[in-house]
Amino acid sequence: MLDIQKIRADFPILTQKVNGKPLVYFDNGATTQKPQVVIDAIAKYYQEINANIHRGVHTLSQLATDAYEESRKKIQNHINAKFAHEVLFTSGTTHGINAVTNGFASILKPGDEILVSALEHHSNIVPWQMLCERTGAILRVIPMNTDGELIMAEYDKLLSDKTKVVTVNHISNALGTINPVKYMIDKAHEVGAAVLIDGAQAVPHLKPDVQELDCDFYVFSGHKLCGPTGTGILYGKEECLNKLPPYQGGGEMIKEVTFEKTTYAELPHKFEAGTPNIAGGIALGTAVDYMNEVGFDNIQQQEKELLEYGTQQLLTIEGLKIYGTAKEKTSVISFNIDGIHPYDIGTIIDKLGIAVRTGHHCAQPIMNFFEIPGTIRASFAFYNTKEEIDSLVAAVKRAQNMLA
Ligand SMILES: *Cc1c(COP(=O)(O)O)cnc(C)c1O
Repeated sequence: MLDIQKIRADFPILTQKVNGKPLVYFDNGATTQKPQVVIDAIAKYYQEINANIHRGVHTLSQLATDAYEESRKKIQNHINAKFAHEVLFTSGTTHGINAVTNGFASILKPGDEILVSALEHHSNIVPWQMLCERTGAILRVIPMNTDGELIMAEYDKLLSDKTKVVTVNHISNALGTINPVKYMIDKAHEVGAAVLIDGAQAVPHLKPDVQELDCDFYVFSGHKLCGPTGTGILYGKEECLNKLPPYQGGGEMIKEVTFEKTTYAELPHKFEAGTPNIAGGIALGTAVDYMNEVGFDNIQQQEKELLEYGTQQLLTIEGLKIYGTAKEKTSVISFNIDGIHPYDIGTIIDKLGIAVRTGHHCAQPIMNFFEIPGTIRASFAFYNTKEEIDSLVAAVKRAQNMLA
């Protein structure tokens, strides 16, 4: 079992007061808080080894390059990628997805089909729509049921030899549904389609094994697993990344440049044009180490308890409805209260120190499906407590009384 008070002491922000009340941070689905070791890793980089990487022969440049590449190896081990050069640093999930969709522009033909799930974040919808506009490919949607689960029988029917790409999130940010990605990947491969998994909401809760999943691409953001903003990872199988043209041109990504012809660098540099977020990349490795020290078994245990307790306690509130009741779900509770706009609840409980997300959660199609403008979303991390859930429930009840 986790010693929660000890864990909480790792996160300096958690002792803050907000609007005069102790902070209750339940917006972990938007971004997680950072432990002191991650904050220190950023400062230490600038204090001790700041230099540009992969360029200089001088000592600081070597030290910075070594630290950055060591972080890449940590992440390779963490997700069990076969090669370090399959692990590309990005600025986040959005960047990773766009690098892939941009690459597919030279591969797809009119009439080819891309399957996207009904549960996606806008980041995993819009870039594919832009790709369809460029190529004449067609976007098809894997539907969901009222529990917020994708309907596998419908997915099976959508797959055909026209399907070139399947893109789906591992875990839904809006509802917390854990999708059957292993099944979906195997099925897609039977028709020769490539699969991208948006792991943005999965990596804070579990350790993905990209070789076991056998996905072609797996993307995530650093800031949702206790790492810095502006960092992320695009994992791709070597053969898949080699098929894609580079996303951006510039320094670092070339082998040789003349005005007549430029040849590109090998992986991973082909996809890493320009000076990256060096401090962030190093600190992302620190965040991954930190999460592993806490232990994903412990994280899951704590979050499961919070989900069960939170669900039970919130349902004691009259007129409260939870959206997203999948059998397999993570520690996200999306809800509404009869006759009250989610924004009004969010605003009042903020005055009581409680941070939740209100709105469509960058997943408008899900809100349209349920015919609601949005929800209130409480997303729990391993450093949250049952006492904080009690504060949330009391605050929501108070808001409800004020607004009734
Ligand atoms: C947060 C999120 C994204 C976008 O991540 P960025 O860090 O904003 O690029 C994409 N997909 C899901 C499921 C997310 O939760």
